[in-house]
Amino acid sequence: MKFLSHCAFCSIVPPYMLQKLAESNDPQIRDRAIATLAVISRARTLRAAMSQTINATSAAPSVPVAKVRRVFDCEGTSDLSRKIVMQENDPPSGDIAVREAYDYAGITWDFYNTVFDRNSIDNRALTIVSSVHYSENGQGFDNALWNGQQMIYGDGGELFGRMTQCLDVVGHELTHGITQYSAGLPYQGQSGALNESMSDVFGVVVRQWHEQQNDPTTANWLVGDKLLLTGAALRSLKAPGTANPDDPQPAHMKDYVNLPNTAAGDYGGVHYNSGIPNHAFYLAAVAIGKPAWETAAKIWYITLTQRLRGDTDFIKCANETISVARDFFDDSTAVKVTQAWIDVGVITQAIGPVASLGMAAAMPSPAAQTSATATQTAQTVAVVKEKPAKTAASKKKRPKR
Ligand SMILES: [Zn+2]
Repeated sequence: MKFLSHCAFCSIVPPYMLQKLAESNDPQIRDRAIATLAVISRARTLRAAMSQTINATSAAPSVPVAKVRRVFDCEGTSDLSRKIVMQENDPPSGDIAVREAYDYAGITWDFYNTVFDRNSIDNRALTIVSSVHYSENGQGFDNALWNGQQMIYGDGGELFGRMTQCLDVVGHELTHGITQYSAGLPYQGQSGALNESMSDVFGVVVRQWHEQQNDPTTANWLVGDKLLLTGAALRSLKAPGTANPDDPQPAHMKDYVNLPNTAAGDYGGVHYNSGIPNHAFYLAAVAIGKPAWETAAKIWYITLTQRLRGDTDFIKCANETISVARDFFDDSTAVKVTQAWIDVGVITQAIGPVASLGMAAAMPSPAAQTSATATQTAQTVAVVKEKPAKTAASKKKRPKR
């Protein structure tokens, strides 16, 4: 099978951080990292089942809108349903991890329902199940993940804080579920990096929406802000590669990372190259200038849920967001989205209707132009008024570098 799945292990802490920790001289840190890596590797067994999800639900009739949450306490074990501790409309738990898992799942549900009229993860009122205080063989668990069916949270430890503490982390993980039930982007290579990027984008925008950060230029664009006990974050959409001292994310195609499609290679660098589409979203949101959830996130959401299916590269995604911007908003917005993708080196120029709408005055910055020319890999995107699926350029594969 060419593409095995939609998500190998949709965990918030990237494997390269855990692999580094697994080499630590501190036995406690090492054992915890090894245990965490073992769990996320096992989650890959869910891949085949998850790849069936889209077909199973795409033609399903709509169901009544319902927000239903359920939180289990693993009590330091790996038993996901060990003890049910909070359900919909229960009084708040005295356990902060339980309360956060419940509350942040609810805010994420509210965001998707209010802004996009979505009925839970699967758009069919799926109960959002969370299990907290997860631990593997008593070693603890330095991660938060969506396993294809539910949320699992560890307690962190010496290096990471409580995994339930960041709303954007919860939003990131639940968005993996939404991608699973919509575009189903295979978790490898560029489609895997887009899968990761969609989760970062919507995770951050959920928090911006909840905190009413209306101005994209001053909004918080960090993923997992202060999740590291050093006070650092996991990733930054505004400045990929700067969130923490080991952040390896590129912000431009000239720095695209080629890694093997293996667990050790982060399935082709899905947590690395997601920095490029992440930054494109940031640039588009800032250029549009409105609260990110009002326009930029709507463009990305429609693209994710209506325009993308299965294997998708960056150019295809760029083309579709530009097309959605024009179809659902206006030409001026489409020009801004086009410019964002030009500035991260995914496309070099716009042709077709958008090109005639002022793109001559919005050409790439000299830096972006130089790097794009040097790499010779970015392709011209054809923006067409008709169905985006007919865009020839969008079907081309980027040559391996
Ligand atoms: Zn993820």
